[in-house]
Order: sequence, then structure tokens, then C-alpha cells
Amino acid sequence: MQVTLAGYNIDVEIIEQVARITNEYPYDIEDFDHLIDLLTKLSGETLSPETVAAAYARISRSDKDMKELRREARFSISRTRRTNERIVFGYGHASIAEHAIVNLDITGISRLAIEELESHRLASYTESSQRYIAMTGDFVIPQEVIEAGLAERFRSDCEELFSAYHDLTDKLERKYANLPDRDRNTKTREDARYVLPLASRSQVGVTINARTAEWMIRNFNRSPLAEVRDLGQQMLSAIKSIVPSLIKHTEPNRSLEAAQSEIAYMSQSLVHNKLDENELTVELIEAPLNGELNALASILFGSGYGSFSSCLSALEKMNSSRREALLVTAHKCISVHEPLRRELELGHFTFSVTLSSSAFAQFKRHRIATLIKQRYLPELGNIVPDSIIEVNGEDIFQHSIEVSNNLFELLQDKLNDDNKYAAQYALTNAHKRRVIFKANARELTHFSRLREDTHAQWDIRGIAKEMIRLAREACPALMLFASGKDSFDTLSEKLFGNNE
Ligand SMILES: Cc1cc2nc3c(=O)[nH]c(=O)nc-3n(C[C@H](O)[C@H](O)[C@H](O)COP(=O)(O)OP(=O)(O)OC[C@H]3O[C@@H](n4cnc5c(N)ncnc54)[C@H](O)[C@@H]3O)c2cc1C
Repeated sequence: MQVTLAGYNIDVEIIEQVARITNEYPYDIEDFDHLIDLLTKLSGETLSPETVAAAYARISRSDKDMKELRREARFSISRTRRTNERIVFGYGHASIAEHAIVNLDITGISRLAIEELESHRLASYTESSQRYIAMTGDFVIPQEVIEAGLAERFRSDCEELFSAYHDLTDKLERKYANLPDRDRNTKTREDARYVLPLASRSQVGVTINARTAEWMIRNFNRSPLAEVRDLGQQMLSAIKSIVPSLIKHTEPNRSLEAAQSEIAYMSQSLVHNKLDENELTVELIEAPLNGELNALASILFGSGYGSFSSCLSALEKMNSSRREALLVTAHKCISVHEPLRRELELGHFTFSVTLSSSAFAQFKRHRIATLIKQRYLPELGNIVPDSIIEVNGEDIFQHSIEVSNNLFELLQDKLNDDNKYAAQYALTNAHKRRVIFKANARELTHFSRLREDTHAQWDIRGIAKEMIRLAREACPALMLFASGKDSFDTLSEKLFGNNE
């Protein structure tokens, strides 16, 4: 794995100044560090996002013009850094660090480690998709596995899984031979990849602010995965010199690890872990009892002058069709690119979902939701794509699952207690885990637009459809606008009539 600094924000006046100078003296520069050195020399200023953060930090106590504050912050970088440290870490005005943004290229990272990376909500990620890219057989051999002397076994089993992926790819390509190239590739790859291990490598572009970066590094430093700890160290070395005054507390709180072991012990001794035969794939744990009323009352509240309780009693006098009409009017002619009104956040739904790693990879991208995950459990079984059965690929598939499960068992047995988490590298995209997913009606409608749509992958689309069905059954008005993007026009016409 490699973490490379790809970019960061600097004051526009430095950019303008450097542009002026480099236009006069064009340089041919390929090396990034060299470029930074050169630009620093050319501009005579330290190129750091810290100056923008420091200038903004001073806004609250200074009546100077913002341009002037930025200029002052650039004038003495050492003073600027002292100010940042005092305000961010001394006063605890930590949001100042959010004005410093970095872009990172993360290459050669495993799918398992990406899950830890992307569990951080306040950041932006774009990763290569196994739906669209042909996988070539690149995977990590985790440090924990090497230390246990199992590297060769791990390598040969992963190679076997990649070979199964190629065999399934051939079969699926034949099935989809009549489709245009792009569709054939997507349909083939999105299903063949179910046999790939979570050790498969990928690459991700990440944009984060310094506050999130510090939090991430601190979390990564106490990860049970050596790869994730390495990610934390590499991130720190990539950005520390750019934002030294904004990254300070990166040492993990070790007592949290002890607490985690204790709570894991309690959970395992208190809760039976046998599979429940009646366990549903998607279960609605909680729907907002008063969510509809509260959301609708708050629409009246936000647009008028009455107290919240008087808005509620006005609503209580309305029948359900009048309430629906109020909601429809409040969203009249909304487009598919616009979110619902914020008032719909007053209704929360909580689901328990058992899903494949493939579906989880997409699920976890919904940052406004609350997502609590368990480890992958081979006992939960696997998702087998229908297409694989149709091309008689089930034997290849089941053999791959056996290879993966046996390797997982071996790692569970041989890795020491601190390293057992790494056994999950052996599992595949078809393996399942349980999650709890909580989202408000506004976010859930957004989720539906993306994940019930025809462009969505079939696995997550099936889950999304069931989630929305359950939510709609419990609170029809709150879920009135839920539909895939592709059905939005039909829904819009039904709700708002012809907009012409
Ligand atoms: C068909 C399809 C293909 C995809 N392919 C890829 C792929 O190849 N690679 C890949 O990496 N991802 C891919 N994704 C995932 C996609 O990029 C999003 O990460 C995912 O759909 C979550 O959606 P979101 O970002 O809109 O929403 P959420 O994270 O659910 O957030 C909800 C809303 O909150 C707002 N919001 C949240 N965070 C921010 C923020 N930081 N800044 C501004 N607004 C914010 C936005 O309005 C957003 O719509 C794909 C998704 C779909 C549906």
C-alpha cells in the first residue's frame, strides 16, 4: 500500500503569484516535492493550508477585512502555526482545522482495509469498482499471516480464488456475448467478483480536512489490522509537514482497546451466537411512531409563527389525505436532483440487515446514515449470483467458498488472539455480515433514489427495495417520495400532476 499526497488548498493569492512567475519562467517539473520547494522559493511563502485556517480562526475576534487576515497569516508561518495550535487544541475550537483540506492517493490497499478507511463519515472517497474493472490477481498478504508463517498457503488459496474469478468471467462473458462491450463487462465482472477475497487490492482517492485526518490516524493507530495501522502512519507522514499545527493527537487511547476486549467478552458470554432460523435478511427494528406528525408539524412550524404544539394540534385535526396533500405541496415540482425538505429528518428508521460484502461495500458509502457492523461470519452463508447458477458455475463458486472458509478457519486457529481479525482477509465478496442501519426519511429517500434505480447493482437493489417497502408500510407519508431515479418522473406525475 502507498499513500501519496495528491493536493491541498492554499491561499489563492499565492496561486496567482506563482502563476505570474511561472508564466515568465516556465519549468518542467515532474517531482512533487521538488515542485513544492520550487514554488515555495518562487512565491517566498510557505505553501500550507494552515494560513487559510488561521485567517478564518481570527475572524471571530478581529474586525479586519478577510483578505487582510489571510495576508497576515501568510506573513509569518511560525506565528500562524502557534495561533492554530492555541485555538484548535488550546481553546478546543477544533472546527478551524476543517478549513485545511488534503487529497490523498491511496493505492494497493485491500478491500478489508478500505472498509475501515471509509467508516469515517466526514470525508470524500472515490474507489475503483470491481463492477467495472477487470481484476488481475493483485492481493495483499497481511503482516499477521506472514508472522504466523502462513504466507505461502494464503498466497496459493488467494490465487485459486482469482483463478475461479477468471473461469467465471469466461463463462459469464459467453452468456452475455450479445450485449454491447460495456454492458457485457459490467454484468460479467459484477458477478464473477463474488468469489474474490477481501485481501484484493484496490485504489481510493480521498479528500479530507485536517480535523478528520487527525481522527482517522488516531483510529487507525489502534486498529487490529497491521495494514490499517500502516495506513495511519503513511497518512501521517504524507500530511504532517503540510499541516503540522493542525494534527497533534494521533496517539491512540489504549484504554479503548482494553474496553473493546472487555465488551467483546461480555457480548460473547451474554448473547447466544447460534443462527436464528427465522432471522430476516432485512428487518425494520424501529419506525418513527410520531415521525410523520412531527415532520409535517415542523413544516407548518418552519413556515409560520405558531408554537410546535399548536402545529401538532392543527395536524391532528387533519385526515390522512389532507396530511399527504400538505407534504406534496411542500415538495411541489421537486426535481430528482434535489433533496427533500430537512423537516423529514425528524423521522428515523432503524433496520437490521444481513448482507454480502459486495452489498456492504456500497451500503457503507451512505455517510449520513448510522452504520454499525459486525465481523463477517461464514456461518451466515453466502450470496450466490443467479447468473452464476445460470452458467453452471455453481461448482466453481462453491469450491471457492470452501477454499475461503478453510483458509479462514486455519487463520482463526493459528493467528494469535490480537491478530484474529485478520482472518477476514480470507473471506470473499459473497460472505455475509450483519449490520444495523439507521437513517432519517430524507436520507432514506436519497438512498432509494440511488439504490432502487436500474443502474444500482442487483444485490443492494434487492435490499433497498425491501427496506423501503418496510419503511413505507410503517410510515407511508414519510416515504411518499422514495423511488429509484428511473421511476421519479412517473412518481412525480402521480403526485404533482402534469408539470407542463
Ligand atoms: C450506480 C452507482 C455507481 C457507483 N460507482 C462508484 C464507483 O465506481 N466508485 C465509487 O467510489 N463510488 C461509486 N458509487 C458510490 C457513490 O459515489 C456514492 O458514494 C454513494 O452512492 C453514496 O451517495 P452520496 O454520496 O450521494 O450520499 P450520502 O453519503 O448518503 O450522503 C447523502 C447526501 O448528503 C450530502 N453529502 C454527504 N456528504 C457530503 C460531503 N462531504 N459534501 C457534500 N455533500 C455531502 C449529499 O447531498 C449527499 O447526496 C456509485 C454509486 C452508484 C449509485
